[in-house]
Amino acid sequence: MASAIVALGGNVGDVRATFKKAIAHICGMAQAALVARSSDYTTPPWGDEDQNPFINACIEIETSLDPHALLFVTQKVEQKFGRIRAKERRWGPRTLDLDLIAYDDVSLKTPDLTLPHPHLFERAFVLVPLAEIAPDRMIGGRRVRDALASVSAQGIERLPDTD
Ligand code: AMP
Repeated sequence: MASAIVALGGNVGDVRATFKKAIAHICGMAQAALVARSSDYTTPPWGDEDQNPFINACIEIETSLDPHALLFVTQKVEQKFGRIRAKERRWGPRTLDLDLIAYDDVSLKTPDLTLPHPHLFERAFVLVPLAEIAPDRMIGGRRVRDALASVSAQGIERLPDTD
């Protein structure tokens, strides 16, 4: 079994309800156990600032799927929740964005999958929820809590639990 980190984001519709359903689908389709789930965070829009704030979260799962099979699953789940990549503008509004952040300590670069995620260390909206569930995890030679300390987490706020 491998330990994989998946980041969730969205800013269209009832994002927190979408996360809940998406996590259940990921675990079901990937035959994965949910090891940890961060709180949800509201985060300022990034890249294209003319849109609603995002909600972001991170999960850790244990799966026997290989990295590409897991990416296939996360892309299927994105599609199921209404994300149509061809219609999106880059960094624009989306119902659900799923990124594979890390898979054990695998490092790979293929046309459709780079691990660890290439933008992890510049994205506070991923590092904040990730540091909640895995502060001491080493990813790409860096400890998550140290990586978080080197970015600005301004405007990122933890949302109260819903249940
Ligand atoms: P984005 O629209 O930013 O979510 O990027 C999606 C594209 O990035 C897809 O075509 C993926 O094949 C590719 N990709 C490369 N590495 C990763 C990764 N670690 N997690 C998710 N998507 C990835």
